[in-house]
Amino acid sequence: MSALLSETTKLRDQIVSVGKSLFDRGLTFGSTGNISARLSNGEILMTPTNASLGSLEPGRLSRFSAEGVHIDGDKPTKEAFLHQCMYCKRTQSGAVVHLHSTHSVAVSILANIDPEDVLPPLTAYYVMRVGSLPLVPYYPPGDKALAEAVAARAEKSHAVLLANHGPVVAGKTLLDAQYATEELEETAKLYLLLHGHRTRPLTPEQRRALG
Ligand SMILES: [Zn+2]
Repeated sequence: MSALLSETTKLRDQIVSVGKSLFDRGLTFGSTGNISARLSNGEILMTPTNASLGSLEPGRLSRFSAEGVHIDGDKPTKEAFLHQCMYCKRTQSGAVVHLHSTHSVAVSILANIDPEDVLPPLTAYYVMRVGSLPLVPYYPPGDKALAEAVAARAEKSHAVLLANHGPVVAGKTLLDAQYATEELEETAKLYLLLHGHRTRPLTPEQRRALG
């Protein structure tokens, strides 16, 4: 088996298992959310339109050329551009996860959040895995203006939060992107749990020390 074929098979299987894990734990529902991964030749594998992340089939994932043209597999999701604009700006990223996970979406709907960096540095792992989280203004699903708005923020941050929609998170590997998305969701949950309480987030010095 060629190295590329073996890499492709492994990534396809990994996308299926990450999708099932996210679905089984309620981090995604219905046919919402999508996962993608970039191969060493620049091609991108992505979960297709109308697919439940809980029951993906490795051979049916949508495959795109490095230029973003659909090559084969099922019909692509109309959110494919969200992934492509992350890869375009984050050339070292090997995977992107986008979910409509409940707590992250809830935070994205709150009035008075800081659009430059939505969540405070509540824990060290949030700082290390997510870092900063800019808010992308609301656009209807599939609106191409959303791509430009995401791309503008993706230059500085590998995680962005779409207002009234959900997170888009890039990572060096698929596991990195998965873990960062989960850390974001859990931190959003903590943030909501802490509502109305006096809190003590990490200090700027403590945050800086994490790199
Ligand atoms: Zn979405």
